[in-house]
Amino acid sequence: MDPKLIEELKQSIEGDVATDDATLTEYSHDASLFEVKPRLVVFPRNEKDVETLVTFVNKHKKEHPELALTARSAGTDMSGGSIGESIIVAFGKYFNHAPRVIGNVATTESGVFYRDFEKETLKYNLIFPSYPASREICAMGGIFNNNSGGEKSLQYGKTEKYVRRVRVVLRDGKTYELTPLTEEELKKKMAQKDLEGEIYTKTYKLITDNYDEIKRAKPDVTKNSAGYSLWDVYDKEKGMFDLSRLWVGAQGTLGMFLAGDLGLVPVHKHRGMLIIFLHDMSHLGQIVNEVLELSPESFESYDDNTLKLALRYFPEFTKQLGILGMIQAGLAFLPAFLSMATGRSLPKLVLQVDFTSDEQDVVKKKLAILREKLKPLHPQTRIAEENQEKKYWLVRRESFNLLRKKIRDKHTAPFIDDFVIKPEYIAQVLPQVTDILKKHPEFIFTITGHIGNGNFHIIPLVDIKNPKVRTAIPEIAQQVYEIITKYHGSITGEHNDGIIRTPYLDQMYGKKITELFAQTKKIFDPENIFNPGKKVGGTLEYALAHIRQNW
Ligand SMILES: Cc1cc2nc3c(=O)[nH]c(=O)nc-3n(C[C@H](O)[C@H](O)[C@H](O)COP(=O)(O)OP(=O)(O)OC[C@H]3O[C@@H](n4cnc5c(N)ncnc54)[C@H](O)[C@@H]3O)c2cc1C
Repeated sequence: MDPKLIEELKQSIEGDVATDDATLTEYSHDASLFEVKPRLVVFPRNEKDVETLVTFVNKHKKEHPELALTARSAGTDMSGGSIGESIIVAFGKYFNHAPRVIGNVATTESGVFYRDFEKETLKYNLIFPSYPASREICAMGGIFNNNSGGEKSLQYGKTEKYVRRVRVVLRDGKTYELTPLTEEELKKKMAQKDLEGEIYTKTYKLITDNYDEIKRAKPDVTKNSAGYSLWDVYDKEKGMFDLSRLWVGAQGTLGMFLAGDLGLVPVHKHRGMLIIFLHDMSHLGQIVNEVLELSPESFESYDDNTLKLALRYFPEFTKQLGILGMIQAGLAFLPAFLSMATGRSLPKLVLQVDFTSDEQDVVKKKLAILREKLKPLHPQTRIAEENQEKKYWLVRRESFNLLRKKIRDKHTAPFIDDFVIKPEYIAQVLPQVTDILKKHPEFIFTITGHIGNGNFHIIPLVDIKNPKVRTAIPEIAQQVYEIITKYHGSITGEHNDGIIRTPYLDQMYGKKITELFAQTKKIFDPENIFNPGKKVGGTLEYALAHIRQNW
């Protein structure tokens, strides 16, 4: 980047500006399979700095069309959402003050780690129930901007349901607050002669002109982060218009997110888990139905490859449980160890069903009912009593992270890592998808997922330098997404579009809806200064050209 521009920026903000190679290389990656080196990394110290950054880019955009801003909180995005070619705006360093909890709402800045956020909310016996499996490594900015979901989303829904307010910097370099508005309040906003008035007027027109089509385009699944959630902005029946719903999950393509308010829920007093070891997949559909009828708080799954991996790296998996916990976990997984040692097959799928309530009897009763209902199907089951379920959660939550760190010669390639279909289609869809992968022996894959939502994480392990792998990635993605589209699912339930899935939005939604996404982007960001190539304008060629060469 032009040294004069860098100097001007350094002089105009209080935060830090980094151009050294080590920092640029660090910020070239997130948890995706891409590498994109930025020109600059900026660590804004306060809200004024973020406003100044936007003004700076606007001022120089004409002579330097490459200038753009990609926001980043903890950088654990799996889609390539938090990497970009121009300026990375890294919120983790200074936007990390402790959240404030008032009543059942928490106000948080972008760079606060989820683990720190939760420590604060638990002081009030409250929790944000849509935390992701990356809860130990991700931050709140990513949760808002990816519309993250997790193990409790089955009962509680996703981030979008809990967002009460977002505080954002729009393209004019000014800070605004987006909250739900009544139609009366909306009229007043639209009458304003400023950028806010323009954005409300144009978005309202876009939505009302295409109302039925937009409502019909909403994917028929319980989790979706693909595209812009235009269908959730205006509820004609309730007379409410809420631009924060459009913001959530927009991956920083509409502006910079500074802070927001999130609703919280009480933590239930009691919990109990039934673990189902499934050797025969033919009853999967029936088991899913039986489980869902009892409304568990979460219903999760992992496959035999994940289990094998957990057994192989058992000490690493369980070390956070302490010595006693490790021994208990060893005993719990003893049958699996024995099966592996004697060459017997491991269960093809492990299912975890978690019931919670303030009444212990309710939990016990649900566990007993489920066990009884499943008896005719003969699956092996085990009950994990209160505080004993941690070891099973570890395998479910930590497997992807462990894969990323442990396997030296192969790498995790998330590219069909997050599709969603209605649970009733799982038994039909899952074998079709795995059949596609089995035709490519260079892909070793694990499957974990939020089975209760029909949301699966398939993350192959590959040798990324193998040219066969590189050509197979788009072929497999195309075939898998054809199946998902046929079953009216979503290509991403929570990990979002980023570099990897933006090119497939056309396939999922069709031309008309992606054209409305492009118009939405234009309303907020006509000069394309916010996270270009994500949600709108990303191509498969760009994605393939930026797959990491080295790890
Ligand atoms: C091991 C592992 C497990 C995971 N499990 C889950 C899971 O269960 N569910 C799930 O939803 N995700 C999961 N993820 C993906 C990711 O961790 C989450 O989406 C997380 O919420 C991202 O948070 P982050 O702070 O790291 O975001 P980042 O990577 O920093 O950013 C994510 C996106 O939000 C945008 N963004 C960030 N901050 C801002 C801001 N201040 N203003 C505007 N835009 C911003 C970025 O540009 C990017 O597009 C997982 C990832 C890993 C590595």
